[in-house]
Amino acid sequence: MPTSVLIAGAGPVGLTMAVELARFQVPVRIIDKTAARTDKSKALAVWSRTLELLDRSGCAQTLIAAGRKTRAVDIMDGKKTIARVAFDELDSPFRFVLMVPQSETERVLEEQLASYGVQVERNVEFSGFSEVGSGVSCNVKHSDGRTEVIDADWLVGCDGAHSPIRHQLGMSFDGETVPGNFVLADVHVAGLQIPEDEFPIFWHRSGIVAFFPIAKDRYRVIADVGAGSSADPTLADVQNIVDQRGPGDVVLSDCIWIAPFTVNERKVKDFRKGRVFLAGDAAHIHSPAGGQGMNTGMQDAFNLAWKLAMVIKNDASCDLLLDSYSVERSANAAQVLKDSGRMLRVGTMQNATGQVVRNFLMHQLFGLSFAKHIAAERLSELTVGYDESPLNGTVAKGIGFPEPGHRIGGSDNYGEGDSPQFAIIAKDNGDVRDRIKRNPGFVEGAIRTSPASKGICLVRPDGYVAMTASAEGWDDVDRYLDQMATTPAPQT
Ligand SMILES: Cc1cc2nc3c(=O)[nH]c(=O)nc-3n(C[C@H](O)[C@H](O)[C@H](O)COP(=O)(O)OP(=O)(O)OC[C@H]3O[C@@H](n4cnc5c(N)ncnc54)[C@H](O)[C@@H]3O)c2cc1C
Repeated sequence: MPTSVLIAGAGPVGLTMAVELARFQVPVRIIDKTAARTDKSKALAVWSRTLELLDRSGCAQTLIAAGRKTRAVDIMDGKKTIARVAFDELDSPFRFVLMVPQSETERVLEEQLASYGVQVERNVEFSGFSEVGSGVSCNVKHSDGRTEVIDADWLVGCDGAHSPIRHQLGMSFDGETVPGNFVLADVHVAGLQIPEDEFPIFWHRSGIVAFFPIAKDRYRVIADVGAGSSADPTLADVQNIVDQRGPGDVVLSDCIWIAPFTVNERKVKDFRKGRVFLAGDAAHIHSPAGGQGMNTGMQDAFNLAWKLAMVIKNDASCDLLLDSYSVERSANAAQVLKDSGRMLRVGTMQNATGQVVRNFLMHQLFGLSFAKHIAAERLSELTVGYDESPLNGTVAKGIGFPEPGHRIGGSDNYGEGDSPQFAIIAKDNGDVRDRIKRNPGFVEGAIRTSPASKGICLVRPDGYVAMTASAEGWDDVDRYLDQMATTPAPQT
């Protein structure tokens, strides 16, 4: 079968992209230059919005079984709580943050992909491409020295922070390396007097130390260590930091991974050039504060997959849909960069007076339930939305639906199944049945109703509102759906 989409890179983002496209029955190949997937815990946090989107392919429950549900984060000064943000009141079926090693996330995704009959092609290195006619001609190298040309309709670069595809596109990765160094260690921890389903971040005069649960009594410890720190940290170094900045009497042992790292904050301006897309770390890298990096990348993949599948399967409006990917996800990545950078700078602030003021203000602010709720919703990425999206249609105010570009919410799984389709929420009548009949492929067959709302809401396959209209506004719905089907694919 000809390859519709070639995905370069089988990290969490490439695998998510492949799972979604394979679920939508798009012929896809996915290659990776490494012989095996990572065995490192790397990104641990999987937030509610990512779980909602994973749930549509059935991956969420498998992943949850492999991880730990964590219900709150505590910001501490020694034994004193400065702020506590709980996730148990989120408007989501997933009211927690899942802590699961990235190696497990990749395993679950790779197994899901295999269930669709697609295998990751390993030891295959992407080495360059050229856009030809209505496709992309891609050169790859196998480990035995063999070269191959893969002709695909579309290429998605999920090839990580050093992305060769981004380099070939000549896209600049604007941003900065944050001054100062950090250390991480995956260790056994004894004596941490914190409930098992919460995780603490200690703010001390000399810096932060955070504990992220991996398994029972095993944590990822992360700390900032200043500019002149060792390039080769030891468990004793991390124990010293914990003794100084933690609550006391915490003992680390059995270290299985220790590494220094620096923080980069960078992104490309455009996530698409012609028939080539960038997603994940290839397009944006962030501070680890807030654990948003992998989640943001996976949500790039969820966003692009349904658009590509709709274009490939239904001849949908190519430029409108595919250009919206860059507009939507670039704006989101810019926001994540800003938020995670701010969290990092607030946490690692060095000025002693500033630290006192910070701790006081944070304690006051997070005493307010609305502030805690907003923080929880933002961290869990439930507030990700696309206010400036070119896909946003008409808006009818006061009829009980979120605005275009906003997540519809609730527990109904929009975008499930083997075809990406818009969903109509409206009163069940001849008008709605007529639109379903007239738009096979674009609109799902089930009629969804919402007794609490008046009017019509069209929902995208990724669960964001496309447009709203009054109960008589079927002309607006028709115009919206017609627009989706009109623009042909570019022949360049
Ligand atoms: C210590 C650490 C902790 C982190 N914690 C968190 C966290 O808690 N939450 C969070 O959301 N994020 C976290 N992150 C970030 C997260 O790990 C990354 O954002 C995520 O791995 C990005 O996924 P990706 O698929 O875009 O890229 P990668 O995981 O880098 O995958 C890219 C893949 O492309 C392959 N590749 C590269 N070049 C080629 C080529 N030429 N040909 C073929 N294949 C190629 C690579 O082998 C690799 O498998 C953390 C990162 C680190 C290092």
